[in-house]
Amino acid sequence: MKKGKKLYEGKAKIIYATNDKNLVIQYFKDDATAFNNQKKTTIEGKGVLNNRISEHILSNLSEVGIKNHLVKRINMREQLVKLVDIIPIEFIVRNIATGSLTKRLGIEEGTVLERPLIEYCLKDDKLGDPIISREHILTFNWLNEIQLDWIDENLSRLNDFLLGMFRGVRIKLVDFKVEFGFTHESEKNQIILADEISPDTCRLWDTLTDKKLDKDRFRKDLGDLIPAYTEVAKRLGILHEQSNVSVVNVTRLSSVKRKKK
Ligand code: UDP
Repeated sequence: MKKGKKLYEGKAKIIYATNDKNLVIQYFKDDATAFNNQKKTTIEGKGVLNNRISEHILSNLSEVGIKNHLVKRINMREQLVKLVDIIPIEFIVRNIATGSLTKRLGIEEGTVLERPLIEYCLKDDKLGDPIISREHILTFNWLNEIQLDWIDENLSRLNDFLLGMFRGVRIKLVDFKVEFGFTHESEKNQIILADEISPDTCRLWDTLTDKKLDKDRFRKDLGDLIPAYTEVAKRLGILHEQSNVSVVNVTRLSSVKRKKK
């Protein structure tokens, strides 16, 4: 698979064309941003961990029939994924109240929700990703009713799967964000999950201690983000013998190799 020109650079990833018009390469950067880009830094090794964790989760999802964009992981930083037209909506699923939900509605931090809550936000940095209702989505034809119902059903299946997977490794899945897109393949306009699933996009708390093992370590200046992400990877059985240091070393090695070429 030949890597072509850069098509798009986002906050945490870069997308490159390939010689197959339906496939793109997704490169995981080490950049971390929060609060609509107001807080930024680079955390060495984050991209490598997210690439591995997301590959693990998305390939497990394929096995249970939740269609997604992952074709395969190519190397420590890159995945081959299906090209999609992304739907301009962030789909958030919550099991425990925290973050913007507590601020917006005054719900007490840590409240266990009686049923999973799905929220929709318009993907628009300039507008600060405002929360929208189902009616907005239908009125502005971002999706039709059948498509939205299909996504809601898949979000519910996805949440059940992820809750179980993380519970099995002593982690509470507090909430997460995903995006969907329309594929360009033969079955045109098929909707698939087209996003990473990682500690950057999920809130993950240790079951016993409620220790945060996700991007809130950066948002809230708690430090030790790499050890937390490494802990998630180890518990999922992805990094067996590797320590925090080796993830950073692998990053250094691959950048040395790239410079030599
Ligand atoms: N989230 C994300 N990207 C975004 C906004 C939210 O991945 O642009 C994730 C976030 O990590 C959390 C969930 O979506 O797991 C809910 O986020 P919330 O609305 O509470 O965001 P906050 O405003 O607190 O960052």
